[in-house]
Amino acid sequence: MKAVVVGAGLGGLSVAACLAKAGVDVTILEKNSWVGGRVHKWVHKGVRFDLGPSWYLMPKEVDRWFHALGFDRKQFYEIHRLDPAYKVIYDGESLVVPGNINKVFELFESVEQGAGERLQFHLSNNAREYHYLMENFIRSNYNSARTILRKGMEILRFFEYSSLMSNFHSRIKKVAYDPKLQKILEYSSTFLGASPYTLPAPYTILNHVDFNLGTWYPLGGFSVLPEAMAKICRLLGVTIHCNEEVEMLELKRNTISHVHSKSTTYQADLVVANADRHFVDQVLLPPKYREMKERQWNALPISPSVFNIFLGVKDTLNNLAHHTFFFDSDWDKHITSVYKRKEWPLDPLFYVHCPAKTDPAAAHNDVQSLFILVPLAPGVQDSPVERNRIYERVLQRLRLHANISEHTISFSKIEGPREYKLHFNAYKSNAFGLAMTLGQTAMLRLSNRSQKVKNLYFSGQYTIPGTGTTMSIISGELSAERIIQEMSLS
Ligand SMILES: Cc1cc2nc3c(=O)[nH]c(=O)nc-3n(C[C@H](O)[C@H](O)[C@H](O)COP(=O)(O)OP(=O)(O)OC[C@H]3O[C@@H](n4cnc5c(N)ncnc54)[C@H](O)[C@@H]3O)c2cc1C
Repeated sequence: MKAVVVGAGLGGLSVAACLAKAGVDVTILEKNSWVGGRVHKWVHKGVRFDLGPSWYLMPKEVDRWFHALGFDRKQFYEIHRLDPAYKVIYDGESLVVPGNINKVFELFESVEQGAGERLQFHLSNNAREYHYLMENFIRSNYNSARTILRKGMEILRFFEYSSLMSNFHSRIKKVAYDPKLQKILEYSSTFLGASPYTLPAPYTILNHVDFNLGTWYPLGGFSVLPEAMAKICRLLGVTIHCNEEVEMLELKRNTISHVHSKSTTYQADLVVANADRHFVDQVLLPPKYREMKERQWNALPISPSVFNIFLGVKDTLNNLAHHTFFFDSDWDKHITSVYKRKEWPLDPLFYVHCPAKTDPAAAHNDVQSLFILVPLAPGVQDSPVERNRIYERVLQRLRLHANISEHTISFSKIEGPREYKLHFNAYKSNAFGLAMTLGQTAMLRLSNRSQKVKNLYFSGQYTIPGTGTTMSIISGELSAERIIQEMSLS
């Protein structure tokens, strides 16, 4: 049995290793020169930048992938829990969120009487919901009508209907009235794909992920994760070809027979597409075998795109934490521009990453690595004018907290929607895949098997919308499980 995986993102590496462990002959074809897809790095003048993710979340779920394949994550890299977890800068003041849960309760209580106690209660509910959803719905394949129906009934029994139908913000309002605390509890939704005013309330399990499970950082930078996964793939016999862009899937009736890259043709009994799903559907497949029409794709809620600034800075950055949020502009206006008006924000919210605070190896000599991420509307038209405007505005606000000037910036680089399309064939230049909405959750999410092509499966962030890296890894495990079951390999 020959399987070809299109794309060496975390979803592709994950499924490849699981299939290889089950005895499948697996080849991964990756368009770029690196493994890890959206998880990659840039090292310039000895200074290391994480170009994609910087929040290492749900570490036990990641460790579980290593264990399932017979390895221990610690053999490959170390992770470090951040304390403080992050800092939030508001207009004229700031709050430092500790990495210790009891200290978080104290912080909430100090800002608003009663909020610490309410947060404690909220998080204990969250923890229960997280474990239930993770085991019963997230880590689950929906490959039969019976399963879908049974799980649908279960979820309705577990959550009250009103809770499923209410939104993230209305639940958070009951925990904290203070807008600063509300922002701490809601930022995860804003940065990961949906507005708190539309995201279903059960997604507040992200608060459990944030405060109880904690924010971690892998020493050596985020790329140590895909590099470790690729090493395991190779140990299990997977062949990985980088710089091998897939251009076409050739079918005989409703079954893929060959995968064509620019230079080579690969015979395949089975294909797992980890590349952006819209691209696979609309570009790699012949029209007859496409799952959706362009207008149906256009109607799918998709996560934001991003504008990223990378600066090598000669400053100690004392007023910034490892993660710092800049919520010092109008929160609702930013959300409206990303989720409703779909235009470049006038005065954006943004996030700053200073990895050398935890991992000195990210800096070199006296130059620190600083990464600024601005969430943008998916599909927004890229424009040099807007890039310059946002760059100037962001640096102006950053200068109030760090010594950032033409004298201290050693070098810089920017990336925006254009690069996301170019590097990843990303639909609407999205950063995080499909948005988290009720209609794309659990049994309602896109199937990880094609409805029209018999031997085509999917892995990656389009099959489980949510917290990026970890969900992509889980998606690979689920696809492999389904393939093994359906192709009677076990
Ligand atoms: C700026 C940014 C910040 C983020 N921050 C976080 C964070 O802090 N924490 C977190 O958990 N998540 C974060 N995420 C999300 C996370 O990175 C992604 O959800 C996850 O890495 C997606 O993995 P994937 O395998 O689904 O997709 P991808 O990583 O996109 O993998 C798909 C692969 O397919 C390849 N490909 C595309 N077309 C072809 C083709 N024609 N032929 C061959 N290969 C092809 C691509 O090159 C890519 O390697 C962030 C993402 C971005 C962009």
